[in-house]
Amino acid sequence: MSQAIVSLEGQYFGGRQPVPLPATLLFSGREASLISTTMAKKFTVSKLQASPRVGRADRFIALPSGGQFQCADHPLLDRLRQEVRSEGAVNWLEQRVSVAIAAIVIMVSILAGGYLYGLPAVAEHVAATIPIENEAALGKQALIWLDKQWFEPTKIERHVEKDIRERFTALHAGLPMDVRYQLEFRSGKHIGVNAFALPGGTIVVTDEMIKLATSTDELMAVLAHEIGHVEMPHTLRHLIQNSVIATVTAAITADAASLTVAVAGAPTLVAGAKYSREFEAESDEFAFELLKDHGISPAAFATIMERLAKGADEAEQSFAFLSSHPITAERVKRARSAAE
Ligand SMILES: [Zn+2]
Repeated sequence: MSQAIVSLEGQYFGGRQPVPLPATLLFSGREASLISTTMAKKFTVSKLQASPRVGRADRFIALPSGGQFQCADHPLLDRLRQEVRSEGAVNWLEQRVSVAIAAIVIMVSILAGGYLYGLPAVAEHVAATIPIENEAALGKQALIWLDKQWFEPTKIERHVEKDIRERFTALHAGLPMDVRYQLEFRSGKHIGVNAFALPGGTIVVTDEMIKLATSTDELMAVLAHEIGHVEMPHTLRHLIQNSVIATVTAAITADAASLTVAVAGAPTLVAGAKYSREFEAESDEFAFELLKDHGISPAAFATIMERLAKGADEAEQSFAFLSSHPITAERVKRARSAAE
């Protein structure tokens, strides 16, 4: 009798990569193989653990190597070891009170609103109701995680850093939102050229991005775009949209472990956030206005984006920023016309 092979298509969250990798999980007898374009791993099926089923939501398979595989539900998943509430997970969550508070706020708002089918609208509403302190706590946790996984201390010279900080402070001074902006410099060991906003107003920029910029104006153009995400606030909205299904799962099954799945994935979601085209366009428009207010031509945005796109052809380094900020000819064109 030939052995039945089942293949599941999904996404692999390895924890070391800024964005999830499209991958296939192949089941053959007692073995499972995880395959993507850049890696292949083998596991014993009995070591895999599946998250609970909730409606038609995607499920997560915890891998023995520490990563997670996200895929659509499949009857095969019921034959795997099932995730159970564990002390470890509960303790983990208790230590992260701010995350728990945010999760509760999200949960209550969603259930009370009964808006289960209008995620973007709910996310916008909930993001607006979360106090800035909780948002900042989320951002802080994410940065600690990122420092462990991706970053090394910056090697940018002090006077260059000081100059960038001063320009950045001038750039966000006087914005209407009450945000405590903070600029963090890091060497992007694993992620290369990058800049992104964390919840609460922390913006991280890598040495590699600073080196890519040929002028401080270009760097300010990138930072202005990230400020746009904070002001909207897209980052938190994105995070909520992505964790909302697992949060609802937790509410229904009263299973804290499933909540940790969502929260543990949070840093990946925050930093690898693939914003929608709409969010990107909104942040771009915001940035162009902000730049013009400070006597910087939006053309600086066009030139650094073009260089980034060119660099991506030559080095894989730029991929991380590009995957979250797809460069379209349209964006560059809008920057140029805003400059006129
Ligand atoms: Zn963006």
